[in-house]
Amino acid sequence: MEDLTNRMIEPELVGCFEDALTFGHIYAVYQPQINHSTGRMVGAEALMRWKHPIYGIQMPGDFIPVLEKNNLIYRADLHIFETVCRFQRKCLDEGISIIPISVNMSRYDIYNTNYVEEIEAIRKKYDIPVKFLRLEITESSAIGGRELITKVLRQLHDHGYTVEMDDFGSGYSSLNILKDLDVDVIKLDMAFLAGDIGGRGGTILGSIVQMTKWLNTPVIAEGVETMEQADYMLSTGCKYIQGYLYYKPLPEEEFLEKMIQLDHEPLTPGMHLIKTLDAGKFWDPNSMETLIFNNFVGGAAIFTYDEDSKELKILRVNRKYVKELGMNMSEHDIIGKDAWTGFDEKNKEKYLALLKRTVESGDEEMGETWRTVYSDCCGEDRICIRTYVREIGEAEKQHLFYAMVHNITAEKKIHEQMAEDEARYKFAFEQANVYAWEYTIATKEMRPCFRCMRDLGLPPLIKNYPEPVIENGVFPPDYADQYRDWHKQLEQGVESIEGIIPLTVGRVPFHVRYTLEKDENGRPLKAYGSATLVVDRKE
Ligand code: C2E
Ligand code: CA
Ligand code: CA
Repeated sequence: MEDLTNRMIEPELVGCFEDALTFGHIYAVYQPQINHSTGRMVGAEALMRWKHPIYGIQMPGDFIPVLEKNNLIYRADLHIFETVCRFQRKCLDEGISIIPISVNMSRYDIYNTNYVEEIEAIRKKYDIPVKFLRLEITESSAIGGRELITKVLRQLHDHGYTVEMDDFGSGYSSLNILKDLDVDVIKLDMAFLAGDIGGRGGTILGSIVQMTKWLNTPVIAEGVETMEQADYMLSTGCKYIQGYLYYKPLPEEEFLEKMIQLDHEPLTPGMHLIKTLDAGKFWDPNSMETLIFNNFVGGAAIFTYDEDSKELKILRVNRKYVKELGMNMSEHDIIGKDAWTGFDEKNKEKYLALLKRTVESGDEEMGETWRTVYSDCCGEDRICIRTYVREIGEAEKQHLFYAMVHNITAEKKIHEQMAEDEARYKFAFEQANVYAWEYTIATKEMRPCFRCMRDLGLPPLIKNYPEPVIENGVFPPDYADQYRDWHKQLEQGVESIEGIIPLTVGRVPFHVRYTLEKDENGRPLKAYGSATLVVDRKE
């Protein structure tokens, strides 16, 4: 924990600056950057700290403006750059796999014409591959003139550095500046959202994220403190998170531990250029499109298909989509994940054929496919989804689709069950004069055999059993309570029950039996019922 002690005033800071560099009072802490949908580390930012031996920790917000004002910042920044390189060298020497680290560049560093050459010299001295270093510049760097920043950017790119635009969206010229400046990564600060995800802040972020998509640039959301914020960012397509939600800036040793412990992955752009979609409206959380998407349509998703990689990637889903798929999943379980998970070859082919049809027809097409879904709470399940899909955008080998989904598993299962029942019961029971059914304890659902359906006109699935068969008179009123009680006993685990019950209005005596099936924990699962005609007894 960093605890702020006495704040130093400007002359004190300036006075001990040299010592602070020499004795390591100025050092770096590291804040990991995480892919919110995979939990892997994509990088870290080095943040400057100053711990005075007597006054204690000084915060960058206080001392950085002082260093800038006194033209000392470039030395402090170079010091941090060197600290990072030294750290990475140490790791590499110990065979530890390292992650790219971003170093902040003050806008005043831009004025220092040698700055890029100086960091290059440091990098070479420690022999760090350039892909492990990123530089963060701020929009305000452009204020000193576009030519200067453009030149520095070109120099950095010539040497192979990744350049990040820090605090994007804080200035006025945000949306224009991106077109002019060739940055590789964009960092958005959650502070600009100011707590109201649906409000004005959301609109700004929405349009920024949309804009950056068009420019094919990865986005990192900074200052993310809550799961809600992270999930919101993910739902707008921004999956990289740097903030207290995951990690506060960490001292070097702690950061080293995390770097070793977590899997690493590279930053990748959100999406390629899409021609036809009015993305601006779509990603804007206040737009009618978003409102409709979330509230007025059924389960819906936006996803891309890449012809080269054959990747199917879900960019956005609404709440009802998550519900349709069931299994208590969250949007976060779905977005960014490989959408082919759970598809077998046959169903994958079928789905691809559907996509091909809609691309060719330019119209909405429908298909039904099965997939396996998994969730921590419910385990594995196989579901059937009916998809209405339409292509809404295209860029080279990339296709953007809009899909409406309906979970039709229950429907399908009843049909399957019927076919199965028919085959299973038909032969065995037809001659034996046995009526059979299956009763599911938890759901109070009854599935009758084919013969029950035929002779008694029962539907393939009866809910709230046994009420409907009492109501329709198959079980007569004077036996109703006894029969209800049987089901209570089954629920309590009674293994078998039997008795003679006169069935139907004709009061034909039947020997009715139940046998209980339990799950591996001994809990009642299903009961198998049968009714055999009693031939030699009259009631
Ligand atoms: P920045 O570059 O935007 O750095 C992000 C700041 O947000 C850091 O503050 C970080 O500790 C803080 N932060 C991270 N996650 C969260 C969160 O979830 N919630 C909140 N409320 N804050 C979070 P820090 O370290 O105090 O740095 C402040 C600023 O000082 C930096 O903002 C940057 O502009 C400047 N700075 C820091 N280190 C350097 C450096 O080495 N060189 C230069 N030139 N400037 C630096
Ligand atoms: Ca920064
Ligand atoms: Ca920032």
